[in-house]
Amino acid sequence: MAKETILVVEDEEDIRELLKYNLEKEGYQIFGAATGEEALQAVRRRRPDLILLDLMLPGIDGLEVCRRIKGDPQARDLPIIMLTAKGEETDIVTGLELGADDYVTKPFSPRVLVARLRAALRRRSQPLPPQTAPLKTDELVIHPGRHEVLLQGQPIPLTVTEFRLLHLLARKPGWVFTRTKIVDEIHGEDYPVSDRSIDVQIVSLRKKLGGFGSRIETIRGIGYRFKD
Ligand code: CA
Repeated sequence: MAKETILVVEDEEDIRELLKYNLEKEGYQIFGAATGEEALQAVRRRRPDLILLDLMLPGIDGLEVCRRIKGDPQARDLPIIMLTAKGEETDIVTGLELGADDYVTKPFSPRVLVARLRAALRRRSQPLPPQTAPLKTDELVIHPGRHEVLLQGQPIPLTVTEFRLLHLLARKPGWVFTRTKIVDEIHGEDYPVSDRSIDVQIVSLRKKLGGFGSRIETIRGIGYRFKD
């Protein structure tokens, strides 16, 4: 099987080399870009399987690179993992809303980075289950058609919004959803859903799910994720 190729976009050479070293050891083929311009060229010419994208770049910055890739029908399916610094929550949220798949905060542990990268590549090759198909994740079963949730075989009474919220997150385990993205996807009909009301819904949903509720992870300053 051909090696999967990863484009590493990072202006700091020592970090780029460190990434290259760690990822080559894992069996990936790596090529690097030091600027946003180089990154966009490399995407067109070399068609990587995934991009590791530093946000702080000279010239065209990482968010703009992300915007252009996700706006290009030829390239928009390309998974992007952002490399960010601590305290860049606003940029992370913007990047996720532009369509980036995930992010890793510097300084990163190579082990965590490789796990995220594997997960993003795996999600890319596995089509999402259809909206209407029942979802089964260990103890939990979600029947979209029947609007029914079973936890260890016991039905859990959920409101329409709670149900949609759980289904949205559980359908894409491992994905980080920003509040805005959640609001866009679940459009409450029982009452208008706002960014902040999502937090309230999550609290109530977790309570109803008991111990299983901890599977819904809060990502501080960013949003929520259903743990893989
Ligand atoms: Ca940088």
